Amino acid sequence: MTMKLGLYVHIPFCLQKCFYCDFPSFANIADLKEAYTDALCKEILMQGALLPCAVVDTIYIGGGTPTTLSDGLLRKILASLKQAFHFNETMECSIEANPGTVNPQQLESLRAAGVNRISFGVQTFEDNLLVKIGRIHTAQAASQSVLLAQAAGFTNINLDLMYGLPGQTLAMLEKSMQIAMDLGVDHISIYGLIVEEGTVFAAKEKQGQLELPSEELVEQMYDRIMSALPNAGYERYEISNFAKAKCYSRHNLKYWQDQPYLGLGAAAHSYINDRRYANTHDVKAYIAAVNSGKVAAEVEEEMTSTVLMEEFCFLALRTKWGIDCGKFAEKFGRSIFAVYGNVIKNLQEKKLLTVDARSVYLTALGMKYGNQVFAEFLLDT
Ligand code: SF4
Repeated sequence: MTMKLGLYVHIPFCLQKCFYCDFPSFANIADLKEAYTDALCKEILMQGALLPCAVVDTIYIGGGTPTTLSDGLLRKILASLKQAFHFNETMECSIEANPGTVNPQQLESLRAAGVNRISFGVQTFEDNLLVKIGRIHTAQAASQSVLLAQAAGFTNINLDLMYGLPGQTLAMLEKSMQIAMDLGVDHISIYGLIVEEGTVFAAKEKQGQLELPSEELVEQMYDRIMSALPNAGYERYEISNFAKAKCYSRHNLKYWQDQPYLGLGAAAHSYINDRRYANTHDVKAYIAAVNSGKVAAEVEEEMTSTVLMEEFCFLALRTKWGIDCGKFAEKFGRSIFAVYGNVIKNLQEKKLLTVDARSVYLTALGMKYGNQVFAEFLLDT
């Protein structure tokens, strides 16, 4: 039997570490690019041989900054993927890019190699904020990168934006959203800043040197986003993701809708047959493992049916479609109301959840207080 599969390919290189970033990405290992690409291609071929029944319908090349690799290295990775896996004819193939790391030849080359979606990390169109958060590019470079991608034939383009940044005002956020919309992109992801442990911002916060907007202002920003983007025709289909004309990220939908995906590269995660795997974060250890003939993935956690149920619910609730009650019953052999009846009733009374004939999903208020709702879906063990 064939299995539809998403592939996540991790490229851990960045030109500079952004001050808020805790992703597995590094600015000081550029000398490993060729060795890493060789190991990655080996892992791709090994994994492809282990999954002969897989039909790949989405690929997401993320990082890090994949476009810091040369055109030749990126094409090598794409060629290995094509050699190792069966591709679905209508496959979505996305790549993450940062403004300042793309050029016309490279973009045309990616299009020619089958990449049909590009996601730019822009964060804000304010130059002074870009400096404050440790980005390498200017606002103008961000706009220019989008125009170059459009000229190269990309029609499916995402821009990542952020709110709650140090020094950011409501007017600055509105301006950034407007520029993104004026650029004509069909997808916008927008995230509130979280100060993560181990980042430059976390260190600054400990020293009392990080001035963040007040909670009230962050809430005003959130409310403004939730009116401005839908009013301009961007449908909120996931807590942080908005799309025009149903240009949803098909790959990311797999994460939220309990679909299998295989992670390739250092720090990449996989979810197949109700088991999660993760490759080592250590780039040198990853290269050594693959070169010694090992697939670098290790079982990260044995997932009990309790954990599977909780995750099924948290992830599905992030989307506008919510939890499909039929799929829950099919997977777990029990009605969702037999497991979560009281929780659902309480959250309905608080106007955080809605139930219809097929689904259980968040209200607009529930989307705002998503973490509070998700906590209620934790089961006592
Ligand atoms: S470019 Fe992206 S992955 Fe790289 S440091 Fe910045 S936020 Fe992290």
